[in-house]
Amino acid sequence: MIIILNNSKAAQIKQLLNTHFGGKTDIFTHGNRIALNKVTPDQLTDDEKAGIADIIMDHPGAVQSSRALHPEDTIIKLPHTQIGGYGNFVMMAGPCSVESEAHVSAMAKVAKDGGATVLRGGAFKPRTSPYSFQGLGVAGLKYLREAADKQNMDMITEVMDEEHLEVVCQYADMIQIGARNMQNFSLLKAVGKTRKPVLLKRGMSATIDDLLNAAEYIAAGGNTQIALSERGVRTFDDKYTRNTFDVSAVPVLKKLTHYPIIADPSHAEGHWDLVTPMALAATASGSDGIVVEIHDNPEKALSDGPQALKPKTYKKMTSEVFALHDMLNSFNQQEGAVVNG
Ligand code: PEP
Ligand code: MN
Repeated sequence: MIIILNNSKAAQIKQLLNTHFGGKTDIFTHGNRIALNKVTPDQLTDDEKAGIADIIMDHPGAVQSSRALHPEDTIIKLPHTQIGGYGNFVMMAGPCSVESEAHVSAMAKVAKDGGATVLRGGAFKPRTSPYSFQGLGVAGLKYLREAADKQNMDMITEVMDEEHLEVVCQYADMIQIGARNMQNFSLLKAVGKTRKPVLLKRGMSATIDDLLNAAEYIAAGGNTQIALSERGVRTFDDKYTRNTFDVSAVPVLKKLTHYPIIADPSHAEGHWDLVTPMALAATASGSDGIVVEIHDNPEKALSDGPQALKPKTYKKMTSEVFALHDMLNSFNQQEGAVVNG
């Protein structure tokens, strides 16, 4: 349960609650809010009750992720980018895999020209088949870093296992945990011990609570620089789309958690011509940004060619997405918070 304390008595009641429940359960505080895991209101003393403005029982079990404990948006600050928070909207773009130094450098320029401030690319690739291209490894990290620096961009790349966490952290501004690793709990715990911003992608069969609990593993280690990514889930129909883009996950997550939500229409759809419509849908649904795959020659791409946007299509997509975001933002500014009035 999460308790909202009366401002005037907050410090005193916090002290009482800590003494009463400390060592017996997990306690998390944020401003005048305090979360006590597995405690019920009848366990509170009269003195404690006297300083309480409200008690929230209906919140996700992943309490540190919860807006009920942490009402303000988390804002992740990278050197060139702010992710999350009103008015911030991030474009992350790049090839699925780093293919060569020259190629990632050219793609970084395209990404930047289209308005991206974060360069994405995989150096360690989680491939369905062990015989598919597995990535360039550490060399790929170096090429990505150089390409991002040349364009004054931030860089995000996937970490697949604990073994490579240190070297990935050394090169990247933000690390990605892929869909296939969303419930790799030892990796989540290891990432929780770092202070590196992390983009956690929703597993292909993960519920929203599974995703929030996975984020909680990272937060439990002390790393709360977390963004979540909706990238499509497996459903019964995969004939025309690679996954089913759960667009409703965006407003649901925005309601439940303070972490920024980044939509990935590329992996959700698997086909380039469906990427722009879903990028627009994600923007309209309130996501804090988009991550998208681009390639100048998708037929020759070493991974995920069919879903890659060519440069011209990518730039058209970003201009539409930015225009839509700006328009919606101006309405929100005029009308204030959404209420069912
Ligand atoms: C990727 O971003 O390249 C990737 C492999 O994504 P996902 O983990 O969502 O499949
Ligand atoms: Mn990919």
